[in-house]
Amino acid sequence: MKTLIGQAIILDKSELKEADIRVLLSTDNFGHIYAIGPNAKKSKIRFVGGLNTFSHIEFSINKKEELFILDESTLIDENGLAFENIHNFITASSLVEVAEKLFTLNNPAETAYYKLKFALAHLDNKKDLKLIFSFLNHSLIDIGEIPELSACTMCQRAITGKKILFNYYRGGIVCNICSKKDNRGENIPQNLYKFLTANASEANNFEERVVRQGIFLYERYIRFKLGISFKSFLFL
Ligand SMILES: [Zn+2]
Repeated sequence: MKTLIGQAIILDKSELKEADIRVLLSTDNFGHIYAIGPNAKKSKIRFVGGLNTFSHIEFSINKKEELFILDESTLIDENGLAFENIHNFITASSLVEVAEKLFTLNNPAETAYYKLKFALAHLDNKKDLKLIFSFLNHSLIDIGEIPELSACTMCQRAITGKKILFNYYRGGIVCNICSKKDNRGENIPQNLYKFLTANASEANNFEERVVRQGIFLYERYIRFKLGISFKSFLFL
């Protein structure tokens, strides 16, 4: 038997027979782990502060062959911002789903943990909306799906004109001429296009509304790439 000690974000939780539960943890040093919490529904002494989705915990896990048994846990931060309003809740659910899927694509899990931790902790804190955008942006980089924004993905010509089509299937923007051949995707406003192509210091000058549009666009795009449907809404 081996003991693993560290910190994690709870990505998912399900109930098993009797009072046992199973949690999916995105950990700081051990990747993603499915762990069983024996009698966790009843034991408040061993699992201080509870085990809920989005929570940041400290854990001690016993590894017996292929089985991970959650021995003890202590709540560090329940990420209460996620429960503050419906928008936050949907965003948090979505971030967690993306993080869960990244693991299956062999994303370096420890970076997924830190990005998720910061994104959840700053959820909808107006000045830190960019952290959520950054989480999605880096997730796209991790899976090698950086959208092409500098030129048309179909003909490589520079983009001119007011209408900018972001084509999910082509993986980036498409010019007016090529959009006549393939018009799938969605038109994005000039300001959003400028935000998406801005460098880090320029990006600070954009208003909240534009950053939100960027979050929604990248969220839809990464869901499309990872094959995740909009099941977040089922939480409601
Ligand atoms: Zn083109």
